Amino acid sequence: MHEYFVTQQLVKIAEDELKDVSFKRVTRIKVVVGELSGIIDESLKFYFDILTKGTILEGAELKIITKKALLYCQKCGEYFERTKDFTCPKCLSLGKLTEHGKEFYIESIEVDD
Ligand SMILES: [Zn+2]
Repeated sequence: MHEYFVTQQLVKIAEDELKDVSFKRVTRIKVVVGELSGIIDESLKFYFDILTKGTILEGAELKIITKKALLYCQKCGEYFERTKDFTCPKCLSLGKLTEHGKEFYIESIEVDD
């Protein structure tokens, strides 16, 4: 359900971004989704198809770029991707979650003009 509101936001942002631009149609919108953002790709695609009907994003390709979660090790200062657990590959202490992986933003909007 989260994705429903997120998709509505996408449409709104795209409309704002393109309000002074002349174009025939939006061909593609690229969004960056962190794996910890709570947004499920499939669900986002599902709502995108439904909610963009009749909007400027209708028929546009939704390209999702997934960002991996990055952990930070306070002991040795290493940033690393989570594997099975939070263990730092360098010094084997436990890392903690960072903001990397919680992203959700539009990277680009491509139009046909
Ligand atoms: Zn470490």
